[in-house]
Amino acid sequence: MDAELMKAAEAATGFMPEAEGLALYETAESYADAGPVLEVGSYCGKSAIYLAAGVRDARARGVRQQVVTIDHHRGSEEHQPGWEYHDTSLVDPEAGRIDTLPRLRSTLVQAGLDDDVIVIVGRSVDVARLWRIQLGMLFIDGGHTDAAAQWDYESWAPKVAVGGVLAIHDVFETPEEGGQAPFRIYQRALSSGAFTEVRHEGSLRILERTGDAVG
Ligand code: SAH
Ligand code: MG
Repeated sequence: MDAELMKAAEAATGFMPEAEGLALYETAESYADAGPVLEVGSYCGKSAIYLAAGVRDARARGVRQQVVTIDHHRGSEEHQPGWEYHDTSLVDPEAGRIDTLPRLRSTLVQAGLDDDVIVIVGRSVDVARLWRIQLGMLFIDGGHTDAAAQWDYESWAPKVAVGGVLAIHDVFETPEEGGQAPFRIYQRALSSGAFTEVRHEGSLRILERTGDAVG
């Protein structure tokens, strides 16, 4: 991966270990042929840098795609005041709430990726309802409640092209390691018969869409 973008990703605020980020980069690079790359859960743009680096490198093969990243920018449960991952520097004093959009924007501008990443501000399910294009890669890294994860799966997984790929972050097999909601959608994807695991890096699971019916 491009050294400047590696540095930018490392410096960005967020929750993406380098080894997992590089797996995202490689996956985006390989699957961009199948369609655009869409991320649920931008936060401050750390993972988006890896995805955009992949899409950029796919241009060497003549593949022109973009990264779309969706977030309501109000943070998940664990980012709220009093919770484990709350970051006071991300509170918008006027709204009195978390607002990660300004940080995302400056991260992308500083990385020189402003034109490579399309930022959508909204709730994942609401955007899904308006979305028609089949995806080359879907990366689910949004809300970690069961309801949020299941909604993300139901509304977006059927939009992955056959031959495209579904990546899920924060998949932990036991409650001791972490919350189980992403693990449950991972299991659901596998048991639907529409997805086959092709890579495992830390808590990141990469599943290729090999079948038609997504259950
Ligand atoms: N990918 C990021 C981390 C994402 S954290 C990184 O690499 O650092 C999860 C994000 O999902 C939070 O920013 C939160 O605001 C967002 N989120 C949670 N539920 C959502 C929903 N229903 N719709 C859109 N965004 C959501
Ligand atoms: Mg995550």
